[in-house]
Amino acid sequence: MFDSDLSAEVSNFSYKVVVPSPVLYSQFEPDIHPYLIHLALEQLGFDRVVDVSTSSMALGAALLRYIAAYKGRRPLISSYCPSILRLIQVKYPDLVELVVPLDVPRELTAREIRKNLPRELGIKSEDIGIMYVASCPGKIVSIKQPAEKARSWFDGVTSVKDVYPVLLPHIIAEKEKFDDSTVPDDFSFHAGWIRSGGIIQSGKAGNWLAVSGLDHVKRILDDIENSRLRNVDFVEALAHMLGCIGGPFCVENPYVARTNSIKQREKYEKKIELDLEDIYRKYDEGYYRLEKPVLPRPTTYFDTDLPTSIKRMKERERVYRGLRQIDCGCCGCPTCMTFAEDFVMGEVELTDCVFFPQVSENE
Ligand code: SF4
Ligand code: SF4
Repeated sequence: MFDSDLSAEVSNFSYKVVVPSPVLYSQFEPDIHPYLIHLALEQLGFDRVVDVSTSSMALGAALLRYIAAYKGRRPLISSYCPSILRLIQVKYPDLVELVVPLDVPRELTAREIRKNLPRELGIKSEDIGIMYVASCPGKIVSIKQPAEKARSWFDGVTSVKDVYPVLLPHIIAEKEKFDDSTVPDDFSFHAGWIRSGGIIQSGKAGNWLAVSGLDHVKRILDDIENSRLRNVDFVEALAHMLGCIGGPFCVENPYVARTNSIKQREKYEKKIELDLEDIYRKYDEGYYRLEKPVLPRPTTYFDTDLPTSIKRMKERERVYRGLRQIDCGCCGCPTCMTFAEDFVMGEVELTDCVFFPQVSENE
């Protein structure tokens, strides 16, 4: 039986695939085998569960290649976190040229599914619906309204916090009878890039820096703007403290999730053999690159006649007053003011603020 609430966006597809954010695994105790989580997702009605391990590793190799060949201004900055990408586009437009123009593991995973599964199953690509389980609103926005590509490779998206409560009873029911020896040989698990420093650990780090939490990231971006970090090759910047395990859609305390993730890695991670020749060939063909360049996104809503500008400014102030003004980045906007500006331009709904019930439209 399919869980209709979770599946609404892929219910019309005859073959349903789910790609969980690696964060989902870290929400469970380390004695829960990742394969058991896959079985529970299948019990919710998905025909196939695909994790992002292989794509993360391939992109890690592509990233190393990009950095090695890069000759321009340094440090380069990761493109992985949509909130940080947006922060740079809006507040640090001068740094946009430093963002690594490579795609993210979730999109690469969906693209590979779209390419390989029709051939494997003998079905049409349009019969396959691919769903992502996200750790934050920023990733949901990046799937529903992608800025750096024409359209996402996903057909639907849900959140870790919505999946977790329906998944848990299935996991509890199956846990006692679960037998490790039934795990297929080709099952792979990789903790992915969910912890701060995860991208760096996925490659042979040179002079790389990992920073997490919006305030810390802003200080590092200020330093880069002021040319203070030219001896650093690459900065991994994530909006939430500890990385995606601190994302607003997680249910577990991030410190517990981090411990879970470390233990899962020790217990279940298997080395993934990469076909580096194939990865480098695809890299040279531009396969891993973002479809569109990352461009500055200056505020445009004052570029109009004076009465409209004044009206928009008043509306922005009114909405901003009703927000928490804590710049938590949970909505995918780097600041509450950016959120208010996006609301005025019709790009977000008030419900996109995670503190929505406390946001007043009539403030
Ligand atoms: S760090 Fe936070 S905002 Fe950035 S991708 Fe992870 S969960 Fe999303
Ligand atoms: S609008 Fe809400 S979710 Fe977005 S940064 Fe402000 S408080 Fe956080």
